[in-house]
Amino acid sequence: MRGLRALASALLLAGCGGTAAERPAQVSEEDRAFGAEQHPRLLAEFGGAYDAPQARYVAAVGERIAAAAGLSGECVFTLVNSDVVNAFAVPGCYIYLTRGMFAIVGSEAELASVLGHELGHIVGAHSQRQQRRSLFRRLGVIAMSLTGSERLTRLAGQAAQYFTLRYSRDQEYKSDDLGLRYLRAAGYDPYAEGEMLARLAANERFTAETAGRDEARSIPEWARSHPLTGNRVERALEAARATGLADDALPENEGAYLREVDGLLYGDDPAQGFVLGRRFAHPVMGVTFEAPAGWTLTNSPRAVLLSGPGGARGEFGGGPMPAGDIAAYAEGLAEALVGQAAGDVAGVERGLVNGLESVVVRMRIQAEGGVVPLTVAAYDAGGGQAYHFVLLSPPGRGTMPTTSGADGALIGSFRPLTREEAMRLRPRMVRTVPVGPGDGAASLSARMADPNGRALFAMLNGLKAGERPRPGGRVKLVVDAAAR
Ligand SMILES: [Zn+2]
Repeated sequence: MRGLRALASALLLAGCGGTAAERPAQVSEEDRAFGAEQHPRLLAEFGGAYDAPQARYVAAVGERIAAAAGLSGECVFTLVNSDVVNAFAVPGCYIYLTRGMFAIVGSEAELASVLGHELGHIVGAHSQRQQRRSLFRRLGVIAMSLTGSERLTRLAGQAAQYFTLRYSRDQEYKSDDLGLRYLRAAGYDPYAEGEMLARLAANERFTAETAGRDEARSIPEWARSHPLTGNRVERALEAARATGLADDALPENEGAYLREVDGLLYGDDPAQGFVLGRRFAHPVMGVTFEAPAGWTLTNSPRAVLLSGPGGARGEFGGGPMPAGDIAAYAEGLAEALVGQAAGDVAGVERGLVNGLESVVVRMRIQAEGGVVPLTVAAYDAGGGQAYHFVLLSPPGRGTMPTTSGADGALIGSFRPLTREEAMRLRPRMVRTVPVGPGDGAASLSARMADPNGRALFAMLNGLKAGERPRPGGRVKLVVDAAAR
C-alpha cells in the first residue's frame, strides 16, 4: 500500500498534455530508462502481468504494429491482469492492455487498432515526459504539505485530481490518425479502427446501463482517459474510406483472435477478490464485508478503495500479524499512516466483531483545511493474518465518526466467509462456441454466467439490438470457469 507515487505518476502518464509536435518514431535512451523504471510499479498497481498464451499473442500483434510504426523491437507490450477495460502507453514505448479490453475486441485487427492508437500517443507525445514529471512533483509537494502523510493524502482524495487528466480531443484525433496509418501499413483492414471505437462506445453504454447506482465504475477507464467525444467513429471510418480500400479488402483475422480469447479469465480474479456491488468477498483470504448504502468499492491488487458520502474515503487491506497482538498491528498502521502529521488519539476500543478480536482507533489529524477525523479498525483473522479498514473525512468536514454511524456499520460487517459462500464465488472465463443453425441471441445468451447475460452477449459480440449472430460463425460466451 505504498503505491501513491507509482499510481500518481501512472495516472499522469495516462493523460498527456500540451502540444504534440510530430517527430520521427524513435525511443530515446532516457525514455526507455524511465519506462523500465515505471514498469514493475505499474504492474503492481494495475493487477500484475496476465501470464497466459494471450499475453504472447498481444505481444506478437503489438510487434507487428510497432514495426509498421517504424519501432520494430523498440516496444514492450504487456497484457495486464485486470478486468477494467483499458489500454495505456508510457514513455519508453511500454504499452499496456488489460484482459478486460482483450475480452471486448472483436478481431486481431481491432486489437491492433487499440495498440496502434497507444503507439500514436507515444509517437505524438513522447516529448512531454519532463513536463508531466515536473507537474507531478509540483502537485505532489502541495499535497504533501496538506497532511504530512503520503498515504493520508492519497486516501483524502488529493490524488483523485490525476484521474481528471485526460487526452484532449486533438490528441485523440492524432492518435486515431497515426493508429490507422500503422494498421494499414501492417496489412490489416483499416476499417477495424472505426469498428473498434464503435465497440468501445457500446461498452460504455453497457457499463452505464448495467452498473448499479452504488457501483464505482460507471464509465470504463479507457473512455475516461481517451474520451469518445465528437465523432471519432465516423472520422475513423471516413479515414478508412480515404485509403481507397473497400471494407474487408484487407484481413481482420477474426478467427485468430477468437481462437486466442477462448479460455481468457473474465471479471474479477479470485486471487484479488470479488466486488459485488457494495459487498467485497475474497474466497482465497476467506473474508467479506459490506459497505453501507452510498459507498462505492474499487478493487486494486493492493487494497480495496472505498469512497462514501460527503467525501469520506478509505481502504481495506491486510497484512501479517506483528509480534504482540492486533493492537500492535493497529498501532503500527496508524503510525505509518499519520507520518509527520500532527494529531491526537481520540479513543481506542477493543472488542469482538463477528467473533474476531478487533481494535478500533479514532484519531484527529491536524491538516491545513481543518481537522481530519481518521479511524483505523483492525481485526485478527487467525492464522497470523490481520485485516484493516482506514477511514477518513475531508478536513473540516464530517464530524468525528462513531461506531453508531455509517463507518460503524462497515466496521461491524467484516467477517469470515462461510465455505458455501466461498464456493459460490467462482472464476468465469470467455468461451468461444460455434453458432448452430437454430441458435439465436436468446438461446446463446441463456448460456452466459452473468445476470445481464443478454446485454453482455450483444456487447461482447458486437451485435446491435435485434441483430442475430451469424450462423456458421463463432461467438464469445462468458461461462463458469469450472464448467466444461
Ligand atoms: Zn487515446
